[in-house]
Amino acid sequence: MSDTIERVKCLIIGSGPAGYTAAVYASRANMAPVLYQGEQPGGQLTTTNDVENFPGYPEGITGPEMMMQLQKQAERFGTDVRHGWVSKVDFSGEIHKAWINGEKEIHADTIIISTGASAKYLNLPSEQKYLKLGGGVSACAVCDGFFYRNQEVVIVGAGDSACEEAHYLSKLCKKVTMLVRRDEFRASKIMAKRVMNTENIEVLFNTETEEVLGDGQVVTGVRVFNNKTNEKHDIEATGFFVAIGHKPNTDIFKDFLDLDETGYIVNAVPGTSKTNVEGVFVSGDAADHVYRQAITAAGTGCMAALDAERYLAAKDADFEVATSSYN
Ligand code: NDP
Repeated sequence: MSDTIERVKCLIIGSGPAGYTAAVYASRANMAPVLYQGEQPGGQLTTTNDVENFPGYPEGITGPEMMMQLQKQAERFGTDVRHGWVSKVDFSGEIHKAWINGEKEIHADTIIISTGASAKYLNLPSEQKYLKLGGGVSACAVCDGFFYRNQEVVIVGAGDSACEEAHYLSKLCKKVTMLVRRDEFRASKIMAKRVMNTENIEVLFNTETEEVLGDGQVVTGVRVFNNKTNEKHDIEATGFFVAIGHKPNTDIFKDFLDLDETGYIVNAVPGTSKTNVEGVFVSGDAADHVYRQAITAAGTGCMAALDAERYLAAKDADFEVATSSYN
């Protein structure tokens, strides 16, 4: 082996709630996990202000603070948390290989993938400005809708997610304006019908966002245009929700793992974290296009560590299962 190759029992890729929870369990089970944080240490939650729906935080907690605490918890039990991202993998042999930043090579008995998914945005400068300021732009109605109770909001998108989120917001907000860029929904008929039948949701077809308006700190409205007539008008709103899909961060795995048509990793055995490659497990949003919550990601992180531990124990008689992790 060359000097640049490092052999580890467990490599965890990604540092959201899934990765850190897997790290807590794996380190407590003597698996000496090495965790690479990826390009956005802390994952999607670092772009969220307050997290109020993660059990155990009655006063809520900011996303970045929660991720720092999860990192500390993982490190307390011995997880080796490192900067860097996995640029390439090779799962064709018995030992799983991963390359860090295109250079360092790691050989791992088990790999836990927790690379998450990224919400898509429109990428308008005004949208990005208020997103970065935490001033009223969000890609998660379930996470942030509560902050807009009795207020007026705008949501962009026409798929099942947008319909589900618009309906969710309609129960909290005074009014929801939904911007659909074509003259029809992409969503299933039943979801679209539910939106159309909700009194405080107004759907504007053939309508796109020109600019998110604000006072420099927070969102105050949205300038929209009709893409058939080019007519523009402003909508008053304190929240701008974007629900135009997510992209799972799974590109580097596509030659080895079964992915669905949108790129999510498919669980080889439903109800477990197993992939189609033995010794490679998945947790969090990289395999979840349905729930996408911090708590569900953490839950599947735990599952992946337990599945990896059992795999190691079955493979290697010298590896003692730390039975405490099953308690
Ligand atoms: P989808 O890819 O299905 O829909 C994305 C929507 O965003 C489309 O309507 C698209 O418009 C619109 N869009 C994309 N880019 C832009 C843009 N730049 N400006 C304006 N609109 C834009 O993503 P979803 O997240 O909704 O769903 C992903 C998958 O998850 C689907 O298979 C869905 O069925 C499933 N899902 C199922 C749920 C359930 O069954 N309860 C709930 C949520 C998701 P256009 O139509 O014009 O392309």
